[in-house]
Amino acid sequence: MSERSGPDDGANAPDDRSELPAAVSGHAQDDVFAVPCFDSIARMVTSALRVPLVALMLADGSTFCFAPGERKAPSVSPALQRFLRSAMSRGEVRVELDIGADGERRVSTSTAPVRFFASMPVFTLSGRHVGALCVLDHAPRDALNESDIDALKDAAVLTGSGLVLRSYIGQVDPVTRLPHRNAFFEDLRARVSDGAQSIALVVVEVAPVARFNAFIRAMGYFHADALMRLVAGRLHEWMRNDMRLYQVGVTRFAVLLTGSDALHDPEAFDRLVASLRQPVDCEGIPLSTQPGVGLLEMPAAEVRTGDALRLVMSAAHAAQHSASGWALYDRAHDDRHRQEFFLVTELSAALNDPDSVAAAELALHYQPRIDLRSGRCVAVEALARWHHPSLGDVPPGHFVPLAEQAGLMRALTDWALVKGLGQLAQWRRDGLDVKLSVNVSSTDFETDLVPRLQEFAQRFEVPLDQVELEFTENTFMQHSAAMQLRLEQLRALGVGIAIDDFGTGYSNLTYMRKLPASTLKIDQSFVSAIGESPDDATIVRSIAGMAQKLGFRVVVEGVETSEVYRAVQDMGCDEVQGYFIARPMPAARLAPWLADHEARRLHGAS
Ligand code: C2E
Ligand code: CA
Ligand code: CA
Repeated sequence: MSERSGPDDGANAPDDRSELPAAVSGHAQDDVFAVPCFDSIARMVTSALRVPLVALMLADGSTFCFAPGERKAPSVSPALQRFLRSAMSRGEVRVELDIGADGERRVSTSTAPVRFFASMPVFTLSGRHVGALCVLDHAPRDALNESDIDALKDAAVLTGSGLVLRSYIGQVDPVTRLPHRNAFFEDLRARVSDGAQSIALVVVEVAPVARFNAFIRAMGYFHADALMRLVAGRLHEWMRNDMRLYQVGVTRFAVLLTGSDALHDPEAFDRLVASLRQPVDCEGIPLSTQPGVGLLEMPAAEVRTGDALRLVMSAAHAAQHSASGWALYDRAHDDRHRQEFFLVTELSAALNDPDSVAAAELALHYQPRIDLRSGRCVAVEALARWHHPSLGDVPPGHFVPLAEQAGLMRALTDWALVKGLGQLAQWRRDGLDVKLSVNVSSTDFETDLVPRLQEFAQRFEVPLDQVELEFTENTFMQHSAAMQLRLEQLRALGVGIAIDDFGTGYSNLTYMRKLPASTLKIDQSFVSAIGESPDDATIVRSIAGMAQKLGFRVVVEGVETSEVYRAVQDMGCDEVQGYFIARPMPAARLAPWLADHEARRLHGAS
């Protein structure tokens, strides 16, 4: 026989569902044992491990105890319950050969304290930690051999599958005992087929997945589960009687409303967010979550269950980063999200297989940089271009940040370096004398950028002093010792380092002096208005003057007119780049352009 004890309670074992709000327990299974056939599993374990007692502790703290041969099932004392709970909280195997003779740690059928215990975490098939299976004995032990551990492991696996089985049949989440996703979808379908005009939904995403995983690593599953139950409780306090709560994901809840009027009560959602943002006390540690509440109203005729959940979740995710913490589903935001996802997938395909059709959509264009004293083209900047077959031209201002977010930066940089250095080699063979500058990103500092660059330069036989790397000013704001080292290594190899978009960040020149950079590119936002704004002219003049004193070569970007060209020339800047000289062009057009430019230069017209 087995018996359930509520969390931390003693021999009388009241129903642990009393801890849960009424609507939850109303939906929970009848009070039968949580795991089908647990008695059989427990009997196997007691005989395999030669123990008199087996206990199953579930994530909500309730404990089931089994003693073969006993007429009445034992219950676990509060002291033993607390001990087991802390022992299993990390979701690891625990073996305590002798936990000492604490008379409080006992079961109801014996006066002898429990001395030996071993526990094995129980996981569902999808890997959720839902409890622990424990074996107990009144006598301490000297050892627990490997076959015993294996037997306990097998029993824990069986128990886990039993829990899953029950949770599927009962449609109840094994941790919070809330109706879960299947129940939610079924109820949603029922609403639609019962003739509801529209459906109204609220979804709560408790924390970003990465954050929740970090929390589990730090605190253990037990606390993570406790946190979810606490959140469920807060949601329940907030809910009206006609609303129904479901757990639709590990950190995600849904509330089904009977009408849409509740969706038009902003104060109610402010209250909900305020309540969810209240720090939760987790064994003395105040934890704050980052909740996002998404709201959706949809005509019943348009409801496809899976889609409704996905749509409202896009609102919840957007809300996680907003001040109010809640947001009504917005199709424009969702479309953007989907398009970004699509772009990332396409870009990844283009970058990861250089021989693919997709790869041919990517190209580098080159924009000349002109030396202001001689008028010669001394360098070209490589700029990525992406022509997608259905989306058309996707600007780098759009896809480069996406590549950064999606972890594709290394692939993009490699692609640009290989393509750019290969082209530089070809130009050199054709007798063209220009340097190449390539844009790289701050995340490239976290990789083996230096040896990769060396390898590519060797492959194409181009000297590294013909190559410059451009980093945006903001890169240097997260300056670290590792970054400094890499920069110094690059400089030692003769690679030029340019600080790009200077003036858009918050750094100052004194700080920049510490960087082993060779070039400073003044951002085009200052440059375009030089003609009209004396302030901008002053800024450019003073930045240029100081930068040169500090030993930087000063490049002015975004030069679109002859006035600006002459103005920055008068200021003594070193180089210019911009539409006034030339727009970025495909590689094949550079040679004719250079020839033309040289001819005009030699004839004195710039
Ligand atoms: P950036 O490095 O500051 O590049 C200069 C941008 O200004 C280029 O935009 C260029 O086409 C544009 N431009 C040049 N002259 C003028 C002008 O006179 N007027 C105006 N209004 N614009 C001018 P683009 O090609 O759209 O690139 C945008 C940004 O995307 C680049 O800014 C760079 O940060 C990034 N990017 C482009 N290609 C790559 C790449 O291969 N790797 C990385 N990491 N970033 C890249
Ligand atoms: Ca650049
Ligand atoms: Ca720039």
